[in-house]
Amino acid sequence: MKLICIGRNYTEHIKELDNEKPTDPVVFLKPDTSLLLKKQPFFIPDFSEDIHHEVEILVKINRVGKHIDKKFAHKYYNEIGLGIDFTARDLQAQLKAKGLPWEKAKAFDGAAVVGNWLAKKEFSDVNNINFSLEKNGSIVQQGSTSHMLWKIDELIEYVSKYFTLKIGDIIFTGTPAGVGKVVANDKLNGFLEDKQLFSITIK
Ligand code: ZN
Repeated sequence: MKLICIGRNYTEHIKELDNEKPTDPVVFLKPDTSLLLKKQPFFIPDFSEDIHHEVEILVKINRVGKHIDKKFAHKYYNEIGLGIDFTARDLQAQLKAKGLPWEKAKAFDGAAVVGNWLAKKEFSDVNNINFSLEKNGSIVQQGSTSHMLWKIDELIEYVSKYFTLKIGDIIFTGTPAGVGKVVANDKLNGFLEDKQLFSITIK
């Protein structure tokens, strides 16, 4: 399985990193080895001094598809989740400055947190789901899928032009504002509406 990640999908987050608003979604991949195993802590890697949390809505693909029209995209997932796209911001900044790919900053072991899944049918509108991330008991990131520049079905249409989607693939749909550094002993809890979908300790 593969993790397909979207960057710069929320205006406020684009502003906080001083990035340009893209004309197409920014897309990158994480390998399956970047998945943080269930109930494991996240260990800060020794190659970064500035690991950031990015909480994101996740979509799990349940049918094989290629060139999926957005009209039919809703048939390709029936679970919604929440996760973290951990990012070595210092390394990413160096790579970006040189125009190099981001993988070392985003696709390292443990860089992808995938929480529990909820059935899509639990939501009356997938384009209006609220989510948040708490760090040590305080909310640090808050978002709504209503603020996405590209909605879930549009993202499925876009990424499936390039990659065949397979059962079990996961799309990370981008992070809202409020990304920030984690340090040892931080505790991160993720919420989709009022349901807690993950709890991660930083080591
Ligand atoms: Zn991200």
